[in-house]
Order: sequence, then C-alpha cells, then structure tokens
Amino acid sequence: MIIRPRIRGFICTTAHPSGCAARVRDQIERATPFNNPPRKVLVVGASGGYGLASRIVSGFGGGAATLGVSFEKAPKANKTATAGWYNNLAFETEAQKRGLYAKTLDGDAFSDDMKSQVVAEIQSSLGQIDLFVYSLAAPLRQHPRTGIVHRSAIKPLGEPFHVKSLNKDTGEVFDTTLDPANDAETEATVAVMGGEDWEFWIDSLMEGGVLAPEAKTVAYTYIGSKLTWPIYWQGTLGQAKVDLDRAASAIRKRLSDIGGQAHVAALKAVVTQASAAIPVVPLYLALLFKIMKEAGNHEDCLAHINRLFQTALYSPTSIDLDDQDRIRMDDWELSQPVQDEVVRRWELVETANVATVADLEGIRKDFLELFGFGIDGVDYEVEVNPVMERG
Ligand code: NAD
Repeated sequence: MIIRPRIRGFICTTAHPSGCAARVRDQIERATPFNNPPRKVLVVGASGGYGLASRIVSGFGGGAATLGVSFEKAPKANKTATAGWYNNLAFETEAQKRGLYAKTLDGDAFSDDMKSQVVAEIQSSLGQIDLFVYSLAAPLRQHPRTGIVHRSAIKPLGEPFHVKSLNKDTGEVFDTTLDPANDAETEATVAVMGGEDWEFWIDSLMEGGVLAPEAKTVAYTYIGSKLTWPIYWQGTLGQAKVDLDRAASAIRKRLSDIGGQAHVAALKAVVTQASAAIPVVPLYLALLFKIMKEAGNHEDCLAHINRLFQTALYSPTSIDLDDQDRIRMDDWELSQPVQDEVVRRWELVETANVATVADLEGIRKDFLELFGFGIDGVDYEVEVNPVMERG
C-alpha cells in the first residue's frame, strides 16, 4: 500500500517503514565513539526519542550489546505498525549487520512480568549489564502491586494558567487557559512519570544479580525555563520529576553496595511523541529551535545524547552536578542569551509572523519524521507492505 501520514492532533496514526528505517540509519551514522563505553546496556523506552538515541549511541557509538524494552504495536495487513516498532526493526537489522547483540521486548515496562522477562533475558544472553537507561514516557501506568490504573494529567498546579499556544498544523497562535490539576490528578501523574517504577526496575535487576559491579543507571528529566515552568516544572509533570530526583537518591544508596552510580540527566527540549502532547511546548519549541539554529547550537535527540555520553556519563574527567546531583545537559538551551531571545520573541509571536519569528517548519518536519514521513531520499509513492517480520 501507499502509506500517507494521518495526523490526529498530536499523534500520527500511520508510520512509514522505509522512512523510520532511514531515520534510524541516519542516527546510527551520526553516533560517535566515546571513552570507556558500556559493554552491555538495557534501555527501557528504547523505541523512540531519547531512549532510541541512547540505544543508538550505546550500540553504534560504543559497540555495546543492547536490550530494549518498549510498548509498540506490530503491523497488520491493513494497518501499519507504530513508528517505534519499525524503529526497533531497523535498529535490530543494522545491529545484526555489525554483529551486535540487539533484542527488543515489547510489552508493559511497568509490569512485574516484563521485569522478570528482562532479568531472564539478561541472565541467559548477557550475564550482567553495566548501563541501565530509564527513558519511559507514558500516559498511564497500571500499578503492579495494587492493579490501579493511573492516568497522568499534564496540568498546572494552583491557579489556572493563561498562556499563548500554537496549533502546529494550522499555524494558529492563540490564547488559552489551562485549568489546574486536583490532588488526585497530581498523584496519578507522579505515579506514572515519577521514580517508583525506576526503583522497581533496580530492585528486580539487583535481585536477579544482573547489575555488573560499578554499573550506572540514568533517567531523564526536563526542567526548562520560566516560560514553561507553569505547565511543566511547577505543574504535575514537575512533581513527577521531583519524585524522580528522590528516586535517584534512593537508588544511589542501593547501588553503593556494587559501587554503582545513579543519575538524573536534565535534557534539552526536543520534538518527540511525548513532548508533542504537552500544551504550550510546541510554541516554545518552535521559538527555541529558531534561536538555537541561528546560534549554531541546536541539537536533536541523537546529537544531544552523543554529548551526554561523551562529556558527562562517560567523561574521563569528573563532571559538575547541580545541587540535586543531576547532570545538566540543558545548559545550552537555558543559556541567558538563548532564553532572553525566547522571551523577547514570545511577546511578539502571533499567527501572522510565527513562520518567520519561530521555526514552525522545523517542528512540523520533526513531527512528521517521528513517524517516518518527510525523510529525504525516501520515495513515498512506492507501494510498501506494512507487514514485516522481526527476528
Ligand atoms: P518518547 O515518547 O519519544 O518515547 C517514550 C518511550 O517509552 C517509547 O519507547 C515507548 O514505547 C516507551 N513506552 C511508553 N509506555 C511504555 C510502557 N508502558 N511500557 C514500555 N515502554 C513504554 O519520549 P521521550 O520524549 O524520548 O521521553 C523519554 C524521557 O526523556 C522522559 O522521561 C522525558 O520526560 C524525558 N525528556 C524528554 C524531553 C523532550 O523534550 N522530549 C526533554 C527532556 C527530558
């Protein structure tokens, strides 16, 4: 069939296998070697965004064997797979060509069952892992102990938040009001995006004896600037990320027995399936990208994770951590000149000038590329069979 993008709000319900594969190969080519790399890596949330970039940098920059976990849907005769499923296939195919172990387990990472499967797979195929990347972004979590399904609500806290927003599809800049979360919504968001599940993973990996001496673990956070604080850092998601910091501290204590390290890394804002769903963020991204591209320091997921691994996670010299022991990779985004310019343009951006003041084209392109569309060199007029075999 001919596969076209079918966009519904902040999701695209189709994905292009050749486009997804080309995008994965492009990232593989840009992964660069780094010092003293990990040999065996587990990435939870491996099929897209920062998790996929972490897997690519580990595997193709560092030469590591990688085990991935994601929640992706396989294709059917008349329905494409999710983009992450094609990304996983492309990753596994390229890894096989280079003789790298690469296995992906699709299923619910929050469940005890998935944790047991992963431990068993590490025991039988890898022995132990020396890096565990926790890069989940999920709308809901069924708690493995209580069975309760928690649904995250991306909302401000306290007061309604009146703010400019962007419809990236129509290019309309409009004013909107976001109502604050109640306590139950805040607790649910912390249950989904907070640190408890990362701790449960560490418990399972420790109990299974599959963490190598001096193993590292890293989870990702976003802090952002005052423009996004009301909806992010000071909102429900921020509460979840505060809980991730709490979990990092608890995990650090646990890992001290094996000389291990646990970090939260604060990363740059990028277009991913997860970030596209956050109100206000598309307008912020469009302004930020324009300014960072003009300044010559814009990074996508792959470039950013390359820098994380090279200059921080596997830096041969000691690195500066912030007062919460976080690795700060958001320094370029949060630099004063960049943020001053974002604030200045935020005041003047409107529907009539958004295409020039902000990088509307850039975020539209990035969004389509997440699903394998709009990739240079891919012929979208060629019939493709969406159904493919994975090993
Ligand atoms: P993403 O949407 O690109 O990827 C999410 C991953 O989680 C996918 O692999 C998906 O399959 C997997 N997943 C979701 N639910 C799952 C489940 N129940 N079981 C197994 N796998 C599941 O997300 P992303 O934007 O790369 O976010 C990853 C992390 O990076 C998050 O912690 C996020 O807060 C953080 N982060 C993102 C940004 C950004 O701008 N996107 C910035 C800073 C930090």
